[in-house]
Amino acid sequence: MSDLQPPRGTHDILPEDHRRHRQVTETARGIAARYGYEEISTPVFEFSEVFKRTLGETSDIVTKEMFSFEDKKGRSLALRPEGTAGVARAFISGLRSEQLPLKLFYQGPMFRYERMQKGRQRQFHQFGVELLGADGPLADIEVITLGAHVLDALGVADKVTLELNTLGDAESRQSYRTKLVGYLEGFKDKLSEDSLARLDRNPLRILDSKDQGDRAVIAGAPLLADHLNDASKAFFEDVQKGLKTAGVEYEINPTLVRGLDYYCHTAFEFTTETLGAQGAVLAGGRYDGLIETMGGPPTPGTGWAAGVERLALMITEPPGPARPVAVVPVGEAAEAEALSLTQKLRQAGFTADLGFSGNLKKRLKGANKAGAAAAVIIGEDELAKGAATVRDMETGEQTEVKLSALEDHLARYR
Ligand code: ATP
Ligand code: MG
Repeated sequence: MSDLQPPRGTHDILPEDHRRHRQVTETARGIAARYGYEEISTPVFEFSEVFKRTLGETSDIVTKEMFSFEDKKGRSLALRPEGTAGVARAFISGLRSEQLPLKLFYQGPMFRYERMQKGRQRQFHQFGVELLGADGPLADIEVITLGAHVLDALGVADKVTLELNTLGDAESRQSYRTKLVGYLEGFKDKLSEDSLARLDRNPLRILDSKDQGDRAVIAGAPLLADHLNDASKAFFEDVQKGLKTAGVEYEINPTLVRGLDYYCHTAFEFTTETLGAQGAVLAGGRYDGLIETMGGPPTPGTGWAAGVERLALMITEPPGPARPVAVVPVGEAAEAEALSLTQKLRQAGFTADLGFSGNLKKRLKGANKAGAAAAVIIGEDELAKGAATVRDMETGEQTEVKLSALEDHLARYR
């Protein structure tokens, strides 16, 4: 039986779920288009290298969460755990001749082998934007403003908080890293195993740890904000000024570090308290080193990704499908006419439904169940007159209408 269940952490997206998903992705698309972003789709799987190189060998995603497998030639492939690495790979393998800056958005399924919780799945969907080739604060301001705009258009702006931090440039991070490691070395006996493993290779990520023991140590750690060089400070101040000008509210969170290794300067996360433990709905930052790390030309980048399922849980119920007009033939002779009439109505833009079988009573019941606004009844009498009886399903009122005038008459039910 178990093989008839969806694999752990995956879900069927049923029609009513799709309405919510679509509301999220179509709203995001519409807003992204206003900012000049165009859609890109990259493959759902890539060579594992693409993610290893960009996310870092020590990241949670690469060490624990990647769905990787070998193809028939023994090459290591992985289902994409996120979108930025694929976009960067696409940029290097073909897009780069295009004019910079490049404004892109994507949407689609992502895969992470995670522990299951509400709002945390193994196959989930993201909508994301990437702005490549712009190195100044204005680019960060644009993508954050775009994210805030999407959340506002989805009606969830009052349920989220924008948390903002800076990771500084490479020089600032280097000097901070030395300080941080010096501090953490004093607490080796208190740190979790995961954090100990990161102490040499990726100490900044320890700040991101959710382990209680780690948190206590981190509370006393030196702050990156106190180790920024002047250029990094100026960058961060400009981002904040721009957000204020754009009317985007934020809170500084000095311990916000992104889980991914290629970020610099701006890091941000829109979080909510309405989803329980899974609070991040839209998160991103600047990743100037990424494309070069992957072997491409030095190209700055900034962007974010939003969790479609998490946002879908937060929005108000979108409207259901359009109410159909139900075409109801009575008697065998009327069936062909009903079929061709239904098709004509659909071609004219109506949502039209033709039941598959049954007598008048059964079909009217079916029409009601389908939420039909009107039923178009065609029996022998009507056939002879070239007319139909239109029944208003709300009032029960019936009107005889010539077939030639039918579309006009039905216009009110659209
Ligand atoms: P988290 O802290 O929740 O693990 P993350 O830092 O791993 O998030 P990102 O890699 O920044 O998340 O992904 C961007 C967004 O994608 C998240 O803010 C979240 O809304 C969504 N997301 C991430 N992982 C999952 C998942 N397993 N299931 C559902 N949504 C997810
Ligand atoms: Mg995660």
